[in-house]
Amino acid sequence: MTKNMKHNIKKSSPFGGGGGFHADERGYYGEFGGAYIPEMLYPNCEELRQNYLKIMETEDFQKEFKQLLRDYAGRPTPLYFAKRLSETHGTKIYLKREDLCHTGAHKVNNTIGQILMAKKLGKNRIIAETGAGQHGVATATVCALMGIECVVYMGEIDIARQAPNVARMKMLGAEVRPAKSGSRTLKDATNEAIRDWINNPVDTHYIIGSVVGPHPYPDMVARFQSVISEEIKWQLQEKEGREHPDYVVACVGGGSNAAGAYYHYLDKEAVGIIAVEAAGKGIHSGESAATSALGKVGIIHGSKTLLMQTDDGQITEPYSISAGLDYPGVGPMHAHLFKSGRAEFISITDDKAMQAGLEVAKLEGIIPAIETSHAFAIFDHKKFDTDDVVVINLSGRGDKDLDTYIDYFNL
Ligand SMILES: *Cc1c(COP(=O)(O)O)cnc(C)c1O
Repeated sequence: MTKNMKHNIKKSSPFGGGGGFHADERGYYGEFGGAYIPEMLYPNCEELRQNYLKIMETEDFQKEFKQLLRDYAGRPTPLYFAKRLSETHGTKIYLKREDLCHTGAHKVNNTIGQILMAKKLGKNRIIAETGAGQHGVATATVCALMGIECVVYMGEIDIARQAPNVARMKMLGAEVRPAKSGSRTLKDATNEAIRDWINNPVDTHYIIGSVVGPHPYPDMVARFQSVISEEIKWQLQEKEGREHPDYVVACVGGGSNAAGAYYHYLDKEAVGIIAVEAAGKGIHSGESAATSALGKVGIIHGSKTLLMQTDDGQITEPYSISAGLDYPGVGPMHAHLFKSGRAEFISITDDKAMQAGLEVAKLEGIIPAIETSHAFAIFDHKKFDTDDVVVINLSGRGDKDLDTYIDYFNL
């Protein structure tokens, strides 16, 4: 298993905070990452690349960021010992309660960070793309907070499917612009957002919602989300007398909640890292989002990573019952964690995830987002020791998924 493997951890990367699993100066994690962008986008990405670390490291930025995380987002989120779930599965299970963040998931950690970054860069207009609408809502939320103009691109089909989130964005003062080309879903919305950014390089910042996209986005988003493992360290120290769990588990769509939960443990070999992907109707059903099992090296959204594609390089349409895991790739950090063997990747079907979500509701009084329910299904797949400490990142709450739970269980 991963615990005993020798990893080629570089001693100290001057850039990435101390090891081979962080981005290097050019945004590479091993062979993955980089910035594969059209010429016309170069000035935008370059401005961000040259400034993001400088800005993030200022005392001023850190103070404002931490204060908003605390007073607005509700951090620190609790690390909760799940007694009944632990008894049921014969191991010690802690839940990192990102579901208690304002707007119901970890996504707001990143949007708060990026809106502050945008302000420091002198931008007065925000654009974003959204699929299920969760990132759009988190972005519209912080734009309202800061009084900044917000345009969210969303596929026409997704607008019809996700009416409550469209309404939320509108209430928050954002303009939702339909993407009417192609399959009229997330990737078309992304294309529209990129076109907008090319046309508005000076006044506009593009808020990407996960650890995907061209450098410096994956690294910047991972750093904003790293507050999750920063908190787990001291919280576990208080509860268990040690900062390090035996395992840290998270679901992976693009990979931002996972990146945040793993961040401070990446170079600690004693901590087993488990990534849970969506197997949809089964890995080989043709309807899944199990990138590690099915993906090959390719370029998506400006980054070299693993993605699901046909033999001639066309991106495969992903499927999962949870909209947040329905992405044909993973961020470059995760591609590297997979390829190097540092993390163990497990794919969970819709059915297993739904059952696991129901179990957590009944045993702990917490209804998880269906994305997170995938992470809870690992107990069927992997046996842990009774004294193992397993931290599960509870990325979001299930309110948004109630209709799906109702349909599935005939509630
Ligand atoms: C968006 C979302 C995810 C997937 O995104 P990552 O970038 O992989 O974290 C997972 N869980 C919840 C609750 C989400 O809203």
